[in-house]
Amino acid sequence: MMSRYLSSKFRNLEPYVPGEQPQDMQRYIKLNTNESPFPPSPKALDYAAQNTRSLNLYSDPNSAELTKALARTYGVEPDMVLATNGSDEILNFAFMAYTDRENPALFADVTYGFYPVFAELNGSAYETIPLRDDFSLCIDDYIDKKGTVFIANPNAPTGVALPVSEIERLVASDTSRIVVVDEAYVDFGAESCIPLTRKYPNVLICQTFSKSRSFAGGRLGYGIGSGQIISDLNAIKYSTNPYNINSMTSAMGIGILSDEAYTRANCRTIMENRKYTVEGLEKLGFKVLPSSANFIFVSSDRVEGGQFYSILKEKGILVRHFTKERISNWCRVTIGSRRSMEAFLKAAKEVLDEKL
Ligand code: PMP
Repeated sequence: MMSRYLSSKFRNLEPYVPGEQPQDMQRYIKLNTNESPFPPSPKALDYAAQNTRSLNLYSDPNSAELTKALARTYGVEPDMVLATNGSDEILNFAFMAYTDRENPALFADVTYGFYPVFAELNGSAYETIPLRDDFSLCIDDYIDKKGTVFIANPNAPTGVALPVSEIERLVASDTSRIVVVDEAYVDFGAESCIPLTRKYPNVLICQTFSKSRSFAGGRLGYGIGSGQIISDLNAIKYSTNPYNINSMTSAMGIGILSDEAYTRANCRTIMENRKYTVEGLEKLGFKVLPSSANFIFVSSDRVEGGQFYSILKEKGILVRHFTKERISNWCRVTIGSRRSMEAFLKAAKEVLDEKL
């Protein structure tokens, strides 16, 4: 319940609802918030233990070393990079900077549930554009629209990805329009649009350490775009929270980037486990959308989505179910360790068997 003191501008705000984070972790195999099953790189933990800046001092407001490490990793200039407190923060900055009542945000009807919340929070107009029946996104639906486009690629919660060439078509079609590409899941088999940032002034890429880099609890994300875009977003950052990255997280980020082999190996394992899980589910008769992410989107004619979620939960497996009508018959399942996926497949089979 809100108090009577709350500003009228927030009276209709419906906050984002994160996936469950049960405290009795022993009870569940947790496949509901797309975290990595692997710990962060041991080299990064060592590096951070040795190199965290004194905690009695503020963190570096420029996150200069981390920014340089990100720029090196992606082959861009440091002034094209902004590190943020999770990628949710860079997304919020982009809504603040590039949408308002006159310039709407444009995004899919089925995509990351935080986009409409950011739009509401910032008092911005927004329009949702339906995905096709197969949950694919058609770029032509956006080409003639006015507004700032937000595309999650791969999309969430579907896992479906677009090739860079399609996104480039949108970016190039009208350079007076900003296109924000949310690449939270790009490392699991999709193509990154980062190379477009060297060519076009109107594209912003948002990525995160939360998924492929096993650092969801550290809250570290970043944006990559033209120097001018990053300068806009920096103005917002310095007007919101100059010390947005704490010193421990910053040191971990640098350590993680120094061990890309570990990240790549973990991504390969997740992709193998994804293939194993999809094959197992298809054998059982489940429908699974083609996924380029560390999760899959699953449905069955034999068990309704909400029921599948509830029975799995009783069996100690947490997945994510969304009540939104168009996807209420689906569940999103994070790809975890091989053991977790074996347990998930066994439970999924039991659910169907119990339905016979
Ligand atoms: N984008 C998408 C599509 C996501 O699913 C998530 C994770 N909830 C995020 C961004 C934000 O992740 P984080 O703030 O942990 O970087």
